[in-house]
Amino acid sequence: MGRGADRRGKKLPAISNDDYSEATLARIRAEQLYAIARFTPAILVVNIWNVLVLVAALYGTPKETAALGWAFAVCSVSAYLYLRGVAARERRLSRASRAVTRNIVTGAAVVGGLWCLAPLMFIDHLAGGAMLIIVCMCCGIMCAGALVLASMPEAVFAFVAPVLVGSLVAIDRSDLVGQYHISLLFVIYACVLVLASLSYYKQMGARLLKQIDAENAARLDVLTRLPNALAFHEFLDRALARCTEYREQAAVLYLDLDGFKPVNDRYGHAAGDEILLQVARRLEETVRKTDFVARLGGDEFAVTLVDVGGPIHVMAFVERLQRAFAAPFSAAGLPQEIGLSIGIALAPSDGLESNVLVVKADNALYQAKAAGGGTSRFFDQKHAQAVQERRDLEADLRAAIERSELELALQPIVEIATGRIIGCEALARWRHPTRGSISPDEFIPMAERTGLIHELGMWIVRDACRVAKLMPEDAPVSVNVSVAQLRSASMTMEMLAIIEEFGLTPDRIEIEITESLLITRDDPAIDTAHELSRAGFPIALDDFGTGYASLNYLRKLPLNRVKIDREFTRDSIDHPDCAAIIISVVQLARTLGLDVTAEGVETEEQLAFLRSIGCGAAQGYLISRPVAETELANLFAQETSKVLAA
Ligand code: C2E
Ligand code: CA
Ligand code: CA
Repeated sequence: MGRGADRRGKKLPAISNDDYSEATLARIRAEQLYAIARFTPAILVVNIWNVLVLVAALYGTPKETAALGWAFAVCSVSAYLYLRGVAARERRLSRASRAVTRNIVTGAAVVGGLWCLAPLMFIDHLAGGAMLIIVCMCCGIMCAGALVLASMPEAVFAFVAPVLVGSLVAIDRSDLVGQYHISLLFVIYACVLVLASLSYYKQMGARLLKQIDAENAARLDVLTRLPNALAFHEFLDRALARCTEYREQAAVLYLDLDGFKPVNDRYGHAAGDEILLQVARRLEETVRKTDFVARLGGDEFAVTLVDVGGPIHVMAFVERLQRAFAAPFSAAGLPQEIGLSIGIALAPSDGLESNVLVVKADNALYQAKAAGGGTSRFFDQKHAQAVQERRDLEADLRAAIERSELELALQPIVEIATGRIIGCEALARWRHPTRGSISPDEFIPMAERTGLIHELGMWIVRDACRVAKLMPEDAPVSVNVSVAQLRSASMTMEMLAIIEEFGLTPDRIEIEITESLLITRDDPAIDTAHELSRAGFPIALDDFGTGYASLNYLRKLPLNRVKIDREFTRDSIDHPDCAAIIISVVQLARTLGLDVTAEGVETEEQLAFLRSIGCGAAQGYLISRPVAETELANLFAQETSKVLAA
């Protein structure tokens, strides 16, 4: 095959039914239907006008009645096709069945047949001039019909062929001069019309295929090749329309991965992508052919189950999903545990609008997440309000961080032996414009859950650095850092960058590791703690004695200090067992070469006890409540003068 043929082949790719999916063909048929339907008013006018001309020519001849009957038939069929065309134009289908093509071809053949009858029936009864009129009319109607049907070559053929046959026979029977030349001209016209239609169809097909490809691409998630949010909403709309029409039930499952963010933070986006790809494949393998999986973005996916039998049916599917997620995933060459939280909304009981259902499934997902993840929840109106309030609060927190509406309260830490302030702890405060002051015990877990903790944490470090600049050089500022923050691979780099920005050395910022999340054996948080320690940041273990496995952390974490939890301090006087624990912690720390701070010191008695057992430092309301930075500066000034005076 020559190069020219290749190029031609590329320009006009042949569309054969074997090459394209049924969906693509259905789409092409819909376009053909629309292109034809657009011309139906013109067809009606042309047909009626032609009919009038012919009837006028035959008026008063013996064929008058036959002509009227024929005219009636043509007008009726044209009117019927016109009405069908108007309906098709209004509906503008996005896909059309094969039956549509069949109907159009049949319609074309019927009208063509009627026009074939005209010359056959009437040519013998016309005088020379009128005879010419009818021949011209046949030629005209053949061209007009072919033009209208151009997008569908088979219909063009079905129309042109009978008109041509009728015309040829009539010309043959007539006494027109140059009959055979006229006949040949007719054949050439017909061939040109069919060929032009074929070429037009190919061009239209090629253009449409490109368009379909682009449309499909716009509905595909680039990474996982799953349908995206747009496709999901379109499918859901169709599924909900079915629910209304056939009284079916459908379910929307909103899925969120548990444990994805730590992998992404720790091992980078490539590792995150590996996980997302595996998740996509497992989801695809778990759903039925009729159901629909999509990636909505980030680590959120959705499944639409159609024609479900009710909640039990949905639960069976959820169990299948959870089983599919039981085996670990793999990323960065390591096995990774990824769980699935699922929120479910049902149609029609929770609504029949896609937006409503998605919001409800999302609300249910939030409940599943709040229950600790790895589980599923159906939407429940009773809890919806509370969930919404929490979500609003989260949105407020996000805005508060962006607008720097949070502040730090500073609580001095004193050396028990001398009473000298040796540092302070920075505690985050959030004054909500309408809800008043919100405790960090409430908003820190919220920030951890939403991933806002990273931004919040860095804001705190930055502000702590600003405070440290105002404090004496030997007094570090302690910041609380949650395990979620430590799981970020970039934590150390970011901390060092901030320190440098303020011209501080790392020993001015002490890191208190708060054990709000369980640190597992191979937890990346442990690596980060070592990195930070190597970089020169002192590390303290907060709330010692209350966590999951504090003794174990003494071995695993590169600690400089332990902080005895305030509950132990509180009970140290009245509960001998608490006193015993504190004594042994102080001894243990001394053996390991660690400093000890007792938190929550509220009475002189507690302080005296701590002093008697050799506890190094204390912090608590007895010494000072957490205060604003100006007040802290005053405290430092008083203490310094006290120390100097001593
Ligand atoms: P924590 O790190 O154990 O902080 C000490 C908490 O004890 C503070 O509560 C402080 O106000 C309170 N406290 C201090 N002295 C006394 C006392 O004598 N008696 C009593 N009863 N309480 C005392 P706060 O500020 O409400 O913080 C609660 C927790 O929130 C903190 O516990 C810490 O785990 C977390 N947190 C606070 N700020 C941050 C932060 O910036 N980042 C992170 N990740 N967590 C923070
Ligand atoms: Ca702390
Ligand atoms: Ca603490």
